[in-house]
Amino acid sequence: MEKVIDESKQGESLVLENKEQNTRKLYIESFGCAMNFSDSEIVASILSDQGYNTTQNLEEADLVLVNTCSIRDKAEQTVRKRLEKYNAVKRINPKMKVGVLGCMAERLKSKFLEEEKIVDLVVGPDAYKDLPNLLAEVEDGRDAINVILSKEETYGDVSPVRLNSNGVTAYVSITRGCDNMCTFCVVPFTRGRERSRDPQSILEEINDLWTKDFKEITLLGQNVDSYLWYGGGLKKDFEKASDLQQATAVNFSNLLDMCAKAYPKMRIRFSTSNPQDLTLDVIETMAKYSNICKHIHLPVQSGSNRILKEMNRLHTREEYFALIDNIKRILPGCAISQDLIAGFPTETEQDHQDTLSLLDYVKYNFGFMYTYSERPGTMAERKLVDDVPEDVKKRRLAEIVQRQREHGAIRTEAYLNTVVEVLIEKESKKSDTEWSGRTQQNSVAVFPKENYKIGDLVKVKINDCTSATLIGVAIGLSMDS
Ligand code: SF4
Repeated sequence: MEKVIDESKQGESLVLENKEQNTRKLYIESFGCAMNFSDSEIVASILSDQGYNTTQNLEEADLVLVNTCSIRDKAEQTVRKRLEKYNAVKRINPKMKVGVLGCMAERLKSKFLEEEKIVDLVVGPDAYKDLPNLLAEVEDGRDAINVILSKEETYGDVSPVRLNSNGVTAYVSITRGCDNMCTFCVVPFTRGRERSRDPQSILEEINDLWTKDFKEITLLGQNVDSYLWYGGGLKKDFEKASDLQQATAVNFSNLLDMCAKAYPKMRIRFSTSNPQDLTLDVIETMAKYSNICKHIHLPVQSGSNRILKEMNRLHTREEYFALIDNIKRILPGCAISQDLIAGFPTETEQDHQDTLSLLDYVKYNFGFMYTYSERPGTMAERKLVDDVPEDVKKRRLAEIVQRQREHGAIRTEAYLNTVVEVLIEKESKKSDTEWSGRTQQNSVAVFPKENYKIGDLVKVKINDCTSATLIGVAIGLSMDS
């Protein structure tokens, strides 16, 4: 499961470089994980060729699209509220069309289109290239729908339009779908089987970003370590591939190596990793290149072997510890972050204590922690009873969050009086005289602007910190600038 993107960015409407000849207006909002935000850039690109420029003004839109997430109940409720808002505007501007994209499309298609009649079109994550046809159907007065999941689609041939961009960092999607079947997760059902994108098209996209002065990319997928290109097709069909295809296949460690070598001044991140697929090769490739950021987001979900089994996570607590030991040995100073669920069905106090002791062992830099909420269509919904009382879930989550806070503070304080490398992304939210950027380890750092500019890679001496932010002063441009 992807961590849901920064709450402050949720729903933000997006702007792209508009084309002069385009006459229609698109208003697009995104919710959920980074993959959804990345997909919205693909959608905007496809619609840009259909005469649509984006707008931040809902009232003037000809087409309103909301890219939805099913991972958490709150995201679904938020989207429903947004649809109510769009329909209120539509009553004043009846020509406006409303569409739902993404993970909620399949599950709620008949409800939105037929029962509630609050949308004109519904488009699943693999059907965005069909948008021109679907819009033509809507223009002809018909409801339009395509939620078919594809075995091939990776959008490798669509050049995403960078929306709401800081001009410095960008996502580059490398896989779609997921072949794991974690019982709490809806992704395998909403995004389909796992397929990888042609490495050549990935390198071309990075090249395009480099020529546009971007300085950092994040290779994106539900499970990036499982990346495998052998000439097209699903990951699960790899064994049927020819000997030549198998011999020349590119795995994630190969891909990382190719990207880091081809663009040595581009910072490279990746997300999300799955413990069962993160190999020693990947960790060693990270060690080999200074431009691969030393941060691994490594969701664990629970510290109890029994609960991991119930979740159908294909790793044990002991295997996870061995992986952590390898990361710490090969990549000293590498930041590690987590996703954790409190109160999964049947979770006992002992299981919860196992999670706390796992936190103590790893001492993550930061994490994303939630109480369990049953998602429709998942294996857990079908097979398990959501039997941990809400107050118990909340108390366990509070204990997990408190433990994570303590560890995060220890990790942050360890940077005091050290020099870190910061890529400047934007002005600090708190002061217009300071820049804000991120270290390789994904910590936010702020420091006086002086003569530096957005996109500079700067050495910063850290002399203070809050629980999550480093505060310092720049001492010069990095040698890697
Ligand atoms: S690895 Fe598990 S949690 Fe992540 S997307 Fe796949 S099924 Fe969901």
